[in-house]
Amino acid sequence: LTQRLNVPTSADEIGRLAGTFNNMIARLETSFRQIRQFSSDASHELRTPLTVMKGETELALRRPREAADYTVVLESTLEEIDRMTRIVDELLFLSRADMGEVKMEYLPVNLDVLLEDISRQASLLGQERDVQVILGPITPIVVRGDELRLRELFLNLVDNAVKYSRRGGAVEVTMTTVPGYAKIVVTDHGIGIGPDDLERIFGRFYRTDDARAHTKKGTGLGLSICAWIADSHHGRIEVKSDLGKGSTFTVLLPFA
Ligand code: ADP
Repeated sequence: LTQRLNVPTSADEIGRLAGTFNNMIARLETSFRQIRQFSSDASHELRTPLTVMKGETELALRRPREAADYTVVLESTLEEIDRMTRIVDELLFLSRADMGEVKMEYLPVNLDVLLEDISRQASLLGQERDVQVILGPITPIVVRGDELRLRELFLNLVDNAVKYSRRGGAVEVTMTTVPGYAKIVVTDHGIGIGPDDLERIFGRFYRTDDARAHTKKGTGLGLSICAWIADSHHGRIEVKSDLGKGSTFTVLLPFA
């Protein structure tokens, strides 16, 4: 695969053909490299919970213990199983998306109602972390979309905003219109993302070092799914962030 055709120096047709061919090979090489990287990342992310479960189970079995000790191990095991289940579910979704097998149902969706719902749901999550979710000004807007997927997209963004906030922080959700688009903005004042990481956070399994240090909860797959959902609605996600100060995720969804 790595062999290239020799490109003649003259700009004749064969030369151009060879150039095109070499370009295609280079793109294939990049794809193969990405697939290899992806398999390695996926294996690593699944291996970690297995290692934790194995270690704790072996330790628990080493000598007889109180029932309460076993409960602790079982609770931790359940947490790791939940984590693996989440990773596998998200991977299955992404692979179905890659193969064009995710069925979408495009119907009118009241985004304002959906955002109210999500903010309420996220407020409950926020209570656990002492983070307030504030639904700011929202304009009543209807777009054509798949309600379940859009719900997933916004819940993921608000959930991240809560997850990467500090205790006592606040998350704001607003919705306005710009020509042709509904504009939904999720702002937090949490750990933020450095400029070098901004490009990469939509990549599969990518988590910043700060995010890993801040919480174990997270798979690095949520934003890939969000980007796919926005894209399949002909929309897009933009992010601005200040390391240590907070992040703003903006979703633009076109009107029908
Ligand atoms: P995760 O499950 O790790 O949150 P995501 O795909 O949703 O995975 O996000 C990828 C990474 O992007 C996160 O691990 C984190 O590094 C960064 N990130 C996403 N949202 C935020 C946010 N609101 N504040 C800071 N970092 C964020």
